[in-house]
Amino acid sequence: MKIQKQTRRSVRAKEKKRLIKELDRIFSFYIRNRDGWKCVTCGSTDKESLQCGHLFSRISYNTRWDERNAYCQCNCCNFRHEHDPGPLTSYFLSLYSSREYQKLYNESHKQRHFYNYDLIKLIDYYKARLKEMGVEYDTDKNGKMESDGAAS
Ligand SMILES: [Zn+2]
Repeated sequence: MKIQKQTRRSVRAKEKKRLIKELDRIFSFYIRNRDGWKCVTCGSTDKESLQCGHLFSRISYNTRWDERNAYCQCNCCNFRHEHDPGPLTSYFLSLYSSREYQKLYNESHKQRHFYNYDLIKLIDYYKARLKEMGVEYDTDKNGKMESDGAAS
Protein backbone atom coordinates (compact mmCIF):
# COMPACT_ATOMS: atom_id res chain seq x y z
CA MET A 1 0.00 0.00 0.00
CA LYS A 2 2.70 2.43 1.05
CA ILE A 3 4.84 1.47 -1.91
CA GLN A 4 1.93 1.97 -4.28
CA LYS A 5 1.36 5.44 -2.91
CA GLN A 6 5.00 6.35 -3.40
CA THR A 7 4.92 4.98 -6.93
CA ARG A 8 1.87 7.05 -7.75
CA ARG A 9 3.58 10.12 -6.37
CA SER A 10 6.72 9.55 -8.39
CA VAL A 11 4.65 8.96 -11.53
CA ARG A 12 2.93 12.28 -10.90
CA ALA A 13 6.26 14.02 -10.31
CA LYS A 14 7.67 12.59 -13.52
CA GLU A 15 4.59 13.68 -15.42
CA LYS A 16 4.91 17.15 -13.91
CA LYS A 17 8.49 17.45 -15.16
CA ARG A 18 7.35 16.47 -18.64
CA LEU A 19 4.45 18.94 -18.56
CA ILE A 20 6.70 21.80 -17.44
CA LYS A 21 9.07 21.03 -20.29
CA GLU A 22 6.23 20.97 -22.79
CA LEU A 23 4.71 24.16 -21.43
CA ASP A 24 8.12 25.91 -21.58
CA ARG A 25 8.41 24.87 -25.23
CA ILE A 26 4.97 25.91 -26.34
CA PHE A 27 5.13 29.15 -24.33
CA SER A 28 8.50 30.06 -25.83
CA PHE A 29 7.22 29.27 -29.32
CA TYR A 30 4.12 31.38 -28.67
CA ILE A 31 6.19 34.33 -27.41
CA ARG A 32 8.50 34.26 -30.43
CA ASN A 33 5.51 34.17 -32.77
CA ARG A 34 3.72 36.93 -30.86
CA ASP A 35 6.78 39.18 -31.19
CA GLY A 36 7.15 38.40 -34.88
CA TRP A 37 10.43 36.46 -34.60
CA LYS A 38 12.34 39.64 -33.83
CA CYS A 39 14.47 40.43 -30.77
CA VAL A 40 12.55 43.17 -28.95
CA THR A 41 15.74 44.76 -27.61
CA CYS A 42 18.11 44.80 -30.62
CA GLY A 43 15.89 43.94 -33.57
CA SER A 44 17.79 40.81 -34.62
CA THR A 45 15.80 38.42 -36.79
CA ASP A 46 18.33 35.59 -36.69
CA LYS A 47 15.78 32.83 -36.10
CA GLU A 48 18.35 30.37 -34.78
CA SER A 49 19.35 32.70 -31.95
CA LEU A 50 15.88 33.80 -30.90
CA GLN A 51 14.70 32.73 -27.46
CA CYS A 52 12.06 33.48 -24.91
CA GLY A 53 13.58 36.02 -22.51
CA HIS A 54 12.04 36.74 -19.14
CA LEU A 55 11.93 40.18 -17.53
CA PHE A 56 11.76 38.61 -14.06
CA SER A 57 13.51 35.29 -13.71
CA ARG A 58 11.74 32.19 -14.91
CA ILE A 59 12.68 30.59 -11.60
CA SER A 60 9.38 31.94 -10.27
CA TYR A 61 6.61 29.69 -11.60
CA ASN A 62 4.07 32.33 -10.74
CA THR A 63 5.23 34.55 -13.64
CA ARG A 64 7.19 32.02 -15.71
CA TRP A 65 4.30 31.54 -18.15
CA ASP A 66 2.87 35.03 -17.86
CA GLU A 67 3.08 36.68 -21.24
CA ARG A 68 3.64 40.13 -19.75
CA ASN A 69 6.89 38.73 -18.38
CA ALA A 70 8.27 37.14 -21.56
CA TYR A 71 9.64 38.55 -24.81
CA CYS A 72 11.39 37.34 -27.91
CA GLN A 73 15.10 38.05 -27.52
CA CYS A 74 18.26 36.92 -29.26
CA ASN A 75 20.58 34.84 -27.11
CA CYS A 76 23.02 37.77 -26.67
CA CYS A 77 20.34 40.14 -25.37
CA ASN A 78 18.84 37.40 -23.21
CA PHE A 79 22.25 36.65 -21.70
CA ARG A 80 23.03 40.33 -21.18
CA HIS A 81 19.71 40.84 -19.38
CA GLU A 82 21.09 38.98 -16.37
CA HIS A 83 23.59 41.80 -15.73
CA ASP A 84 21.76 44.65 -17.42
CA PRO A 85 17.96 44.51 -17.20
CA GLY A 86 17.67 48.09 -18.56
CA PRO A 87 16.85 47.40 -22.21
CA LEU A 88 14.09 44.84 -21.57
CA THR A 89 12.71 46.97 -18.74
CA SER A 90 12.49 49.92 -21.14
CA TYR A 91 10.70 47.74 -23.66
CA PHE A 92 8.25 46.58 -21.01
CA LEU A 93 7.60 50.21 -20.01
CA SER A 94 6.85 51.08 -23.64
CA LEU A 95 3.93 48.62 -23.42
CA TYR A 96 2.82 48.83 -19.80
CA SER A 97 2.72 51.36 -16.98
CA SER A 98 5.22 51.49 -14.12
CA ARG A 99 2.37 50.39 -11.88
CA GLU A 100 2.06 47.23 -13.97
CA TYR A 101 5.82 46.75 -13.63
CA GLN A 102 5.51 46.89 -9.85
CA LYS A 103 2.57 44.49 -9.94
CA LEU A 104 4.45 41.98 -12.05
CA TYR A 105 7.51 42.32 -9.81
CA ASN A 106 5.38 41.54 -6.76
CA GLU A 107 3.77 38.59 -8.51
CA SER A 108 7.19 37.23 -9.48
CA HIS A 109 8.11 37.13 -5.80
CA LYS A 110 5.04 35.20 -4.77
CA GLN A 111 5.04 31.43 -4.49
CA ARG A 112 2.47 29.46 -6.37
CA HIS A 113 2.01 25.75 -6.52
CA PHE A 114 1.14 24.33 -9.92
CA TYR A 115 -0.71 21.05 -10.09
CA ASN A 116 -0.45 18.95 -13.23
CA TYR A 117 -3.91 20.04 -14.33
CA ASP A 118 -2.87 23.72 -14.04
CA LEU A 119 0.01 22.99 -16.41
CA ILE A 120 -2.27 21.13 -18.84
CA LYS A 121 -4.67 24.07 -18.79
CA LEU A 122 -1.84 26.46 -19.68
CA ILE A 123 -0.58 24.19 -22.46
CA ASP A 124 -4.08 24.12 -23.95
CA TYR A 125 -4.41 27.88 -23.53
CA TYR A 126 -1.22 28.65 -25.47
CA LYS A 127 -2.07 26.02 -28.09
CA ALA A 128 -5.37 27.84 -28.63
CA ARG A 129 -3.62 31.23 -28.80
CA LEU A 130 -1.25 29.88 -31.45
CA LYS A 131 -4.16 28.49 -33.40
CA GLU A 132 -5.83 31.91 -33.28
CA MET A 133 -2.64 33.32 -34.79
CA GLY A 134 -2.83 30.68 -37.50
CA VAL A 135 0.32 28.93 -36.32
CA GLU A 136 0.46 25.17 -36.11
CA TYR A 137 2.30 23.81 -33.11
CA ASP A 138 4.18 20.57 -33.61
CA THR A 139 5.81 19.30 -30.42
CA ASP A 140 8.62 17.47 -32.18
CA LYS A 141 9.52 20.11 -34.72
CA ASN A 142 9.05 23.17 -32.53
CA GLY A 143 10.61 21.44 -29.59
CA LYS A 144 13.89 21.10 -31.45
CA MET A 145 14.02 24.82 -32.12
CA GLU A 146 14.05 25.46 -28.41
CA SER A 147 17.49 26.25 -27.08
CA ASP A 148 16.92 28.43 -24.06
CA GLY A 149 16.63 25.74 -21.46
CA ALA A 150 19.18 27.33 -19.16
CA ALA A 151 18.46 30.97 -19.94
CA SER A 152 16.80 33.30 -17.48
ZN1 LIG B 1 18.93 41.04 -29.31
